[in-house]
Amino acid sequence: MRATVVGGGLGGLAAAVALHKVGWEVTVLERAAEFGEVGAGVGVMPNALRALGALGLADEVRAIGTPNVPGGVRDPRGRALTLVDASEAGRVVAVHRADLHRVLRSALPERCLVTSTEVTSPDDVDADLVVAADGIRSRLRAALFPAHPEPVYAGTTAWRSVTGPRFPKDLEISQTLGPGSEFGVLPLGDGRVCWYAATVAPAGGRSPDELGEVRDLVGDWHHPIPALLDATPAGTVLRHDIHELGAPLPTYVRGRVALLGDAAHAMTPYLGQGACMAIEDGVVLAAACARGNTVAEALADYDRARRPRTQAVAKASRLAGRLGHKLRNPVAVAIRDTAMRAIPTSLSLKGMAKFTAWEPPSLSLDR
Ligand SMILES: Cc1cc2nc3c(=O)[nH]c(=O)nc-3n(C[C@H](O)[C@H](O)[C@H](O)COP(=O)(O)OP(=O)(O)OC[C@H]3O[C@@H](n4cnc5c(N)ncnc54)[C@H](O)[C@@H]3O)c2cc1C
Repeated sequence: MRATVVGGGLGGLAAAVALHKVGWEVTVLERAAEFGEVGAGVGVMPNALRALGALGLADEVRAIGTPNVPGGVRDPRGRALTLVDASEAGRVVAVHRADLHRVLRSALPERCLVTSTEVTSPDDVDADLVVAADGIRSRLRAALFPAHPEPVYAGTTAWRSVTGPRFPKDLEISQTLGPGSEFGVLPLGDGRVCWYAATVAPAGGRSPDELGEVRDLVGDWHHPIPALLDATPAGTVLRHDIHELGAPLPTYVRGRVALLGDAAHAMTPYLGQGACMAIEDGVVLAAACARGNTVAEALADYDRARRPRTQAVAKASRLAGRLGHKLRNPVAVAIRDTAMRAIPTSLSLKGMAKFTAWEPPSLSLDR
């Protein structure tokens, strides 16, 4: 059986690796001239790490990501709102996107990867299965669901970058919540630190000095935030306005096409689950295909398994933003912070486990 994956981002590559693992002939068609990801970090949550485990890649990802360190949510003065010890926080592994992309690519034969090829309609693809993994602005989604509303602005602009390798290996993985803004610290295993900042702002704002914009926002927040900004090479700061697919799709499947990742369910990053869901999607799709059903049956299984879960995560992520950095009223912020301090860590982790406790289906062929 032959599958063509349109789009070689993290979701498309995860699907390609999974389909290759269950014996399908796979081609990934990528619009860009080169495969790769831009320079920023991604938090691989426990559910996605298990999905990567099903692909045989979890150890490799752990080796390039966050060591076992404590974690926490803090206020801008550094006071703890929630603290988790190393064994618990260690389950989230931050990696450089480019490194994760390389690990996925290395699990595929070179012949599977085709660059400089833009696909605008599934009719242009000759394969038993077409995987639409072409991101939030998916051309294939637009072709298959022409009346579906476009992604909408989520009200937040975000900056991301990675420092030089000069930080202690036991630096805390953390999120700092201020009024209307937040800052996240994702240490890598080699002393580099991925960070992000987000704030409520109108869409479309740009500055010739984005690092300066971040300094104005959080430069006087607690240690190590100013030091991380000082260690960030000028000109490496990426800025994105956050968009999401506001209206959920009625199905992730049309004929022999399966939509996956941001093409199917672009969500806000407030729970750090967008790429994680895309990786899960790929594993579930391949497992459905491996069960020996027809493509139509496999895709119906895929839709049934993925749509409720990913749309629930998208909804929860939107709410996390609303109760997180989007709160600006000082009274509301004080109530949130007091509530977070009062909730036992075990209870917060239990809330997260609703999404992170997911187990992947097996991709082993000898079941
Ligand atoms: C600021 C920010 C922070 C985030 N942080 C996290 C995080 O910590 N954890 C997390 O899990 N998620 C995070 N996300 C979400 C995550 O980045 C996305 O959900 C994920 O990258 C989606 O992967 P994808 O493969 O579906 O799409 P994409 O990464 O967008 O890949 C799509 C690929 O398709 C190619 N393409 C597009 N159109 C065509 C075409 N017509 N023909 C051929 N190729 C095409 C593109 O060039 C691209 O390579 C974050 C997002 C943002 C904006």
